[in-house]
Amino acid sequence: MFLRQLFDRESSTYTYLLADEKTSEAAIIDPVKEQFERDVVLIKQLGFKLKYVLETHVHADHITSSGQLREAFSAKVALHENSGAKCADMLLKDNDVLKLGDIEIKVMHTPGHTNADISYLVENYVFTGDALLVRDCGRTDFQLGNSNTLYNSINEKIFSLDENTIIYPGHDYNGFTASTVKEEKLYNHRLGNGKTEEEFVEIMANLDLALPKKIKESVPGNTNCGL
Ligand code: FE
Repeated sequence: MFLRQLFDRESSTYTYLLADEKTSEAAIIDPVKEQFERDVVLIKQLGFKLKYVLETHVHADHITSSGQLREAFSAKVALHENSGAKCADMLLKDNDVLKLGDIEIKVMHTPGHTNADISYLVENYVFTGDALLVRDCGRTDFQLGNSNTLYNSINEKIFSLDENTIIYPGHDYNGFTASTVKEEKLYNHRLGNGKTEEEFVEIMANLDLALPKKIKESVPGNTNCGL
């Protein structure tokens, strides 16, 4: 499988391009509006047929290029069914499977950062969006987030994967690019080393974070595929 990690510096967002090299069918996860040209050129240079634009959730900190990529490549835009995104071509639910050639993309509903988070499991990789970040996790204080729900999503779904599964997060602010289930179970600051649900809820309740700068335009923009 072809796999490329891309980065948007302004929002610290990771975008991922995946493709089946036999059929050239490709999917992009969490593309950013400001990087539309970069991504179009890359997909064309590599000769891929973009089949899916997959969102891990409705982002609050940047705007997606999903609608523009759909237009450019006749791709299908997919989000979780809880997203309320009327622009989506596919509304996904837990255990759905999408295919790029013979490669399977498995949908895992991992809510808690929002109510519509998806982690996409592909071979030995899991793209966790903002549910689980390297040594960290997404905030739970808006967009119907819930700390208890996130604790259970991570422990029951992501941490139950094979421990060598490679974690590719939706953002990073500390210079990390990837992790593994084994590492996060041990070293994640908020949930690792057997932290209890009560301890996690307490940590999340005391983060005292400012709202993302772009939340007002991002959430409505992203339920409309960034158009
Ligand atoms: Fe987010």
